[in-house]
Amino acid sequence: MIKFLDLGKINNRFRAEIDQRIQKILDNGWYLQGEENETFNRNFANFCGTKYCVGVANGLDALNLIIKGYGFGPGDEIIVPANTYIASILAISENGCTPVLIEPDINTYNINPKLIEEKITSRTKAIMVVHLYGQAVKMQEIWEIAKKYNLKIIEDSAQAHGAYYKGKRVGNLGDASGFSFYPGKNLGCMGDGGAVTTNDEILYEKIKAIANYGSDRKYHHIYKGVNSRLDEIQAAILDIKLKYLDLDNKRRQQIAKYYRDNIKNEKIILPQTYNEDSHVWHIFAVRTNNRDDFQNYLEKHNIQTNIHYPTPPHQQGAYKEWSHLSYPISEIIHKTIISIPISPVLTDEEVRNITEVINAY
Ligand SMILES: *Cc1c(COP(=O)(O)O)cnc(C)c1O
Repeated sequence: MIKFLDLGKINNRFRAEIDQRIQKILDNGWYLQGEENETFNRNFANFCGTKYCVGVANGLDALNLIIKGYGFGPGDEIIVPANTYIASILAISENGCTPVLIEPDINTYNINPKLIEEKITSRTKAIMVVHLYGQAVKMQEIWEIAKKYNLKIIEDSAQAHGAYYKGKRVGNLGDASGFSFYPGKNLGCMGDGGAVTTNDEILYEKIKAIANYGSDRKYHHIYKGVNSRLDEIQAAILDIKLKYLDLDNKRRQQIAKYYRDNIKNEKIILPQTYNEDSHVWHIFAVRTNNRDDFQNYLEKHNIQTNIHYPTPPHQQGAYKEWSHLSYPISEIIHKTIISIPISPVLTDEEVRNITEVINAY
């Protein structure tokens, strides 16, 4: 069986280094907000090209904390793609803000910038872009709209660690960015983890405090904060894996290129990219009209697949108030999309095998 994602195999490549770093943490007896966080925050900010990074408990919290840090709340509207993982939207509603959903571009699956301006009102505060499946959003038009209407740009970079747009990394394409280090992400830890990157010193200081009980120094609470910290063990693991992230992403790009050059089946629509550097292929999602049949066929040939995602946020029970709304492009994508294996530990032979099986479908 070719697994959809072999996390054990991915992480075992770093076993010796991880063992050594955890021994050090055991020796030091210091588990939160210590050296490992300091090192990782500095290295991840450097990697993204930003001045600041703060490790937090998970990706949802990262987005949540950015919105809290800006002080957005009830009555404020935030623009967000209709075609995303629900976390992007949950972060907005959790703060009492109103998510304003925008349809994607069918070629990139990312937010369609042409549809943003008509949704801007006097209450709009920010545009949240999501670099879905690992592909950086084409930011130029977003930058222009944000400037024209004085809006903040929040990036949801949970799927695109390391991707570039116009020479800058994801995480450095807006005012603040939320990352997830959930185990399956391109940079994943061994539990939950997340981070905020930004160049805004005031926002950075505020988020750092809010994430630690609203405290800027011990027992001194200036905000009604939360507890959202990255622990030292996860920070250490991430710091090790960060060194290999560009190499891992290159391997993903190589596999994606092989699939795109060699999968030839008119029943299968392949993903597109506008620039090779812009896509780090967190997910290789194809589309087909008979998805269930295709998924069963691959399963029978020992190839595991996954669906990202089967139901769009506006049709989820959590957002019953939107059930009358229709976002036809998002709906079509959710009905036809299916993800085939892509990961840095997939072998050439497995990639060839997957391609042959798909071509024979
Ligand atoms: C994974 C993910 C998140 C949430 O990350 P967690 O660490 O699981 O909280 C947010 N947005 C997108 C697009 C994601 O893929």
